[in-house]
Amino acid sequence: MSALNSDSVRAAIESFPDPETGRPIGSMGQIKEVQVDGNTATITLGLTSHSNPIADEIADAIESKVVAAVPGTQVKVEIVDHPRPPARLGQVGLRVKSVIAVGSGKGGVGKSTVAASIALSLRQMGSRVGLMDADVYGPSIPHLLGLSGRPAVNAQKKIEPIMLNDDSGQPPMPVISMGFLVEPDQAVIWRGPMLHGSINQFLGDTNWGELDYLVIDMPPGTGDVALTLSQALPLAGSVVVCTPQEVALLDAIKAISMFRKVNIPILGMVENMSGFMCPDCGKSYDIFGRGGARAKAEELSVPFLGSLPIDIDLRTAGDEGRLATVLAENTRSRTPIETAAKSLVRTLASKAAANPPKPSLPTL
Ligand code: ADP
Repeated sequence: MSALNSDSVRAAIESFPDPETGRPIGSMGQIKEVQVDGNTATITLGLTSHSNPIADEIADAIESKVVAAVPGTQVKVEIVDHPRPPARLGQVGLRVKSVIAVGSGKGGVGKSTVAASIALSLRQMGSRVGLMDADVYGPSIPHLLGLSGRPAVNAQKKIEPIMLNDDSGQPPMPVISMGFLVEPDQAVIWRGPMLHGSINQFLGDTNWGELDYLVIDMPPGTGDVALTLSQALPLAGSVVVCTPQEVALLDAIKAISMFRKVNIPILGMVENMSGFMCPDCGKSYDIFGRGGARAKAEELSVPFLGSLPIDIDLRTAGDEGRLATVLAENTRSRTPIETAAKSLVRTLASKAAANPPKPSLPTL
């Protein structure tokens, strides 16, 4: 057992993996300061905004490391911002740390609602997030967020995304969707090369700025957009949304195998419409059953990220374009999605820790 001093505290935590990169926080300059006073250790830890959604858990884990090394220590962990800009990703040069595709085997399972809610929730927890609606056959993101307008093209010939400016106190969230470019009642017939071109434009010719997460709402079922994405840039992975019915789960399995075919890792499954919480009596009803996705995820060795009940407030807010407002103001609607978003970030962190990227070699 070591004595409590700043060296022993540093030694206990320096190999702890940075949740974003998986590299040791000690070597990444993220242990900003360690102060020891009596039996209290105060650690100032730098985390990037990418890790903000799980900052509290990281602080707890750091505390446990110190207590394990020097039992009886009172540990205070103060999190400060550790700025680290994203590297350019893929041929398109997107400045985003993690690109996450949200897909489903079929339509109507709440994929767009979940994609938008995950994006909003990550942003609310302090990350910089963009939302790309790649569901070109039925773009519903503008409607869910109450956004309209035509994206302008700036002097650098980049498309300016439509910004979600709400009163959440968070920076505006860039959003791009085919829904901004075609009239709502206009049908678009997509030929392969045109689809490929539009997705690449959304990725590469849009002024996304620097982001921690780009959440992509995928079209249901088909693999063409997934293939285009996988060729354009390395994705952090995909989230598959399904409802608990067996038939919907079979569709989810198809979505999983589609992502696997194009080498997009599966980050996990979300079970949507999992039970109905009666808003009047608070009683829970399992309309479609419950828990099927969790069991299936285990069977397929895929993380289970969480379940969202049927929530009337979420549905009415989505229909009225107030999804951001309801998630900001209604804890009951927000909690399940926040749980799933945190699981997602935790999954990314454990993947990074298991396989940290090699530090780039210094150029001679
Ligand atoms: P998809 O993208 O899979 O086609 P949507 O996100 O457009 O599905 O959702 C379909 C409908 O279901 C919408 O009316 C949406 O408001 C509703 N919905 C989605 N998730 C929930 C939920 N958890 N509770 C209540 N309604 C939901």
